[in-house]
Amino acid sequence: MKVKVLKFGGSSVGSIEAIKRSASIISKWSKKYKLVVVLSAMYGETDRLINLTKSFSKNPNPADYDIALSSGETVSCALMSIHLNSIKFKSKAIMGWQIPINTSDDFNKARILSVNNKKIYDEFNKYDILIVPGFQGINKNFNITTLGRGGSDTSAVAIASSLKVECVIYTDVEGVYTTDPNLVPKAKKIPKISYEEMLELASQGAKVLQTRSVELAMRKKTKLSVRSSIKPSASGTVITDENNVLENNTVSGIAFSRDEAKITLSKVLDKPGVSSKIFGPLAKGNVNVDMILQNISQDGKFANLSFTLPRQDIDKAIKIIKREKTNIGYKKMQYSTDIAKLSVVGVGMRSHAGVAQTLFDTLGNNNINIHLITTSEIKISVLISELHLETAVKILHKAYNLHK
Ligand code: ADP
Ligand code: ASP
Ligand code: MG
Repeated sequence: MKVKVLKFGGSSVGSIEAIKRSASIISKWSKKYKLVVVLSAMYGETDRLINLTKSFSKNPNPADYDIALSSGETVSCALMSIHLNSIKFKSKAIMGWQIPINTSDDFNKARILSVNNKKIYDEFNKYDILIVPGFQGINKNFNITTLGRGGSDTSAVAIASSLKVECVIYTDVEGVYTTDPNLVPKAKKIPKISYEEMLELASQGAKVLQTRSVELAMRKKTKLSVRSSIKPSASGTVITDENNVLENNTVSGIAFSRDEAKITLSKVLDKPGVSSKIFGPLAKGNVNVDMILQNISQDGKFANLSFTLPRQDIDKAIKIIKREKTNIGYKKMQYSTDIAKLSVVGVGMRSHAGVAQTLFDTLGNNNINIHLITTSEIKISVLISELHLETAVKILHKAYNLHK
């Protein structure tokens, strides 16, 4: 039995027409394969559900909250299967808890632990197409969990890797581009990209694939591609091993994230253990700190310390740092939320110098100030004012010759 996993995102099932359009893609694949089709909620639905819960409580019980959030995917799956049956396909919607897709306990950002593929094979005895909701799973206490925003990509890759088959992600753009094509119309589609580069792009904000889905595909060597549900005839992007990518550009793409906030603590006593007094309580409070910069003051006794975190966690982080004030021993705390992170990614950076220089020159020549810098082997990230983000992405896209 030949099996494929297809995933359709929110805009690919966002209306009656979109569901029908995606169903026609499914019907073509169905001629050669048994299919597991993973769906997101209809476009905007998860946001609507989040807002609905907010009308009742700022701090809903996490289990209730995940039941509400997971319902968007439940509905889109039922609608798709009803439609496929009406046009004479043998299709059935099965929910995350029915398979089950087992997850960790954490509501709202659960991790998939296992997928019971026996249930999938059993159902294939009766059905050709199984419609499975993305984003939802079940924990060991039989509570419904959700996987974090964009989690349907990860559901699809988890099912594909458990069945050891290929996963095709259908979305509203033709593939992975050199940067977000909705911001830079001249962005170019990348026909093949390595898992490593895709992982960096995703984790730095290119939301075309959820970071965890790429992580999982890389670990399990799952065949993964991204294609358009609007123009299904267009060739998409294949995400694969670095060895399969013939042409390694120095820079492959630029990602960015507006989801950033920065906290600066001034006059922190410069002594051993102080970092752990700051970052320990933040980690305990589930605040993920990203970039960190420490400047030593002139007398060598005090340091100024800046770090970034997800914007949505700023209130929580401020509370924690205030609570720990005497323990940490800082003089003043400042914060900003009008900042953004821009990252330049490419495996070619390993062997080519000058990528950083181009970044600094280009931003400097355009009067764009850099607040923080971090690097990895194949990535340079800078923190800049959000006001300059669009310009910065555009001029850098040109500076690295990504238009061509
Ligand atoms: P879906 O609902 O199908 O999961 P998403 O909105 O999560 O779709 O992801 C697709 C969007 O990702 C695109 O519309 C595009 O704006 C954005 N995006 C950001 N960076 C990139 C990139 N490098 N290549 C392609 N799309 C990108
Ligand atoms: N519906 C969820 C979201 O909007 C999951 C997904 O679409 O991947 O984040
Ligand atoms: Mg998505």
